Amino acid sequence: MPKTYDVFISHSSEDKAIAEKIAQHLSFRGLQVWYDDWEILVGHDIVDKVYGGIRDSRFLLVLLSEKSVRSKWVQQEINVARIREIESGATVVLPAVIEPNAKSQIPESLRTKRYADISANFQSAMREIEKAVSVTKLTPVSVTPPVYRTTSAYETALAETVTRPTNGTTFRLQSIALVPIGQVQSESIAVLQKRLPAKFKGASCQVLGVEIDAEKSRDARSSQYHATKILADLEKDAKRLQADRLLGVTDLDLYEPGMNFVFGNALFPGRAAIISTCRLKDTTSYGGAELLPVRVVKESVHELGHTLSLAHCKDPSCVMYFSSSLRDTDRKGEDYCRSCSRQLGGQDA
Ligand SMILES: [Zn+2]
Ligand SMILES: [Zn+2]
Repeated sequence: MPKTYDVFISHSSEDKAIAEKIAQHLSFRGLQVWYDDWEILVGHDIVDKVYGGIRDSRFLLVLLSEKSVRSKWVQQEINVARIREIESGATVVLPAVIEPNAKSQIPESLRTKRYADISANFQSAMREIEKAVSVTKLTPVSVTPPVYRTTSAYETALAETVTRPTNGTTFRLQSIALVPIGQVQSESIAVLQKRLPAKFKGASCQVLGVEIDAEKSRDARSSQYHATKILADLEKDAKRLQADRLLGVTDLDLYEPGMNFVFGNALFPGRAAIISTCRLKDTTSYGGAELLPVRVVKESVHELGHTLSLAHCKDPSCVMYFSSSLRDTDRKGEDYCRSCSRQLGGQDA
């Protein structure tokens, strides 16, 4: 039976910070990750969810620390996955050490397995894990194969974008419909389905097969597409389909009169937004296509913010900051700043 998730992250709640960083990293690399905070919502039965999550995941990545090797939960999760491993004959459990001291305390049942050492080198351990999970899953996200850079500038950019404390949005949307327009990389759709619900308080996020004829918005001279014209079509569909928001996702190069290109656009306010991955794939001095998923999330949260009446924000770390270049996009966070959250009516702003 095909599995819904690639990796289930088994960890002690006390290792939440590093567990989330690992979960985000793998998810940005295009893997479907089961991570408790993303999957278990208020009202869910935790035990049901956890066992269902393990059953629906191809691999169980167990994060070994002094705390987790003593956790009954983690031990139980390993046991469940080990049984499947023995029955199927396939590798299921992937041990990863996150604290040097845990190396001498690896649980009996995992001692014969080679482990990834995240405590020694985060990036290279993550590459080993990705390789174990599947090399074929990580298809290039652009026409040029992504170069997995480990320059310090790239690591800084990634650390800044990934680990920045988030305010979270306080605005709840019921449903966001994703509308692929033309060719779109599946990674872009996958990351949005994974990440947007948490950005808008558990909004559902489905892909809709709506026919949008982008060709009539094409500028014959520049071969670019007029974003506002496509938005008008999307807005009509939003009314008909009763989705709270329609987010068009395209790889077509978008423009607005007077601007060479735009990463996206939205009705302000309205129900339709669009983003283009065309220029979000570009390489900078510190990183390239591997940053695409993070950029896609940022520009989508940005455009959806416009539909909620948010204007551009002066705070360069706020997702509502206007990006005139990829450097702006890479520098800004994925969430609304306090002031923007407040405008959305958030109490915790
Ligand atoms: Zn904007
Ligand atoms: Zn702001």
